[in-house]
Amino acid sequence: MKFTIVSKGDEKSNLLEEKLRKYLADFQFVFDEKEPEMVISVGGDGTLLSAFQRYRHRLDETAFVGIHTGHLGFYADWMPDEIEKLVIAIARTECRIVEYPLLEVIIYYNKGKKEEHYLALNEATIKSVEGTFVIDVEIQDELFERFRGDGLCVSTPSGSTAYNKALGGAIIHPSLESIQISEMASINNRVFRTIGSPLILPHHHKCIFRPVTEKDFLIGIDHLSFIQRDIQSLQFKVADKKIRFARFKPFPFWSRVRGSFIGE
Ligand code: NAP
Repeated sequence: MKFTIVSKGDEKSNLLEEKLRKYLADFQFVFDEKEPEMVISVGGDGTLLSAFQRYRHRLDETAFVGIHTGHLGFYADWMPDEIEKLVIAIARTECRIVEYPLLEVIIYYNKGKKEEHYLALNEATIKSVEGTFVIDVEIQDELFERFRGDGLCVSTPSGSTAYNKALGGAIIHPSLESIQISEMASINNRVFRTIGSPLILPHHHKCIFRPVTEKDFLIGIDHLSFIQRDIQSLQFKVADKKIRFARFKPFPFWSRVRGSFIGE
C-alpha cells in the first residue's frame, strides 16, 4: 500500500508525521506523495481539508484518515496517543470505506474565459468584494429569489457543522446526498425579501447564482479564498464524486456532533 502524510506543520504534528512514516515503513508500506492510496492528515479538520484539496484529483484511488493533534474532529478520528494502534490496524485489519458527498461548483465567466470547476468538502461561500452583495438565485432553472445581504454559503452534509452551522443552517447527516444554501445577513424589509431560512436541495437538483450588477466576488472553497472577476454565473450541485474515508473503528456522526457542541 502506498501512503502519504499531510501535516499541519506545527512541531507536534511534524513529530507525529515522522513517527508514523517510520512505523508504516517498518510494515513495508511505501511513502508516495504522488500516487498515494491512503492519505493520512495530521493536524485538525482544517488539515484534512487541505489534504482533500491536494489529492482531489485521485478520489477514486485514495482513502483518507485523520489524526487530530487538538481535540477530536469531524474528519479526524484518531488521537496522537493512538498512532501505534492505527498503524497496526492499517497493517493487520480490513478497513471499512465510508463515503461522504461533495459539492461541485462551476464558475462561468463573461468574455469567453473558460469555466472553472471546483470540489468542496465543507462548503463554498460567495461574498461581494465591495458594497452590498446582490445575486439572483435560481433553483432548477427557475428564479427563486433576488438575494441582498452579505453573501451566501452552500455546504455539504459534512460541512454542515462548520460555517453553515454558524449561519443557522441545519446539521445534516452525511448519508443524505444533498447541499444546503444558507444566508449571510440578508436584507429583509418591505422592499427586499428573501426566504430567510436555509434551503436543502436533493442530489438531483442544481442551483445557479447570477450576479445582478457587480460581477467581481470573493469566493471561498473550504479553507481557500480568492477573488474572481467578471463572473457570469455560479452553478452548485451534489458532485458525482465522493470522498472516501478509511475507518478502522466506529466514528458515529451524532456522537461527534454531541461531543463537539454539547459536551460529553
Ligand atoms: P480556521 O478558521 O482556522 O478554523 C475553522 C474551524 O472550523 C476549526 O476549528 C476547524 O476545526 C473547524 N472545522 C473545519 N471543518 C469542520 C467541520 N466539517 N465541522 C466542524 N468544524 C469544522 O479555518 P480552517 O481550519 O482552514 O477551516 C476552514 C473552514 O473554516 C471552512 O471550511 C469553514 O467551514 C470554516 N469557517 C467557519 C466560520 C464560522 O464558523 N463563522 C468562518 C469561516 C470559516 P479544526 O480545529 O479541527 O481544524
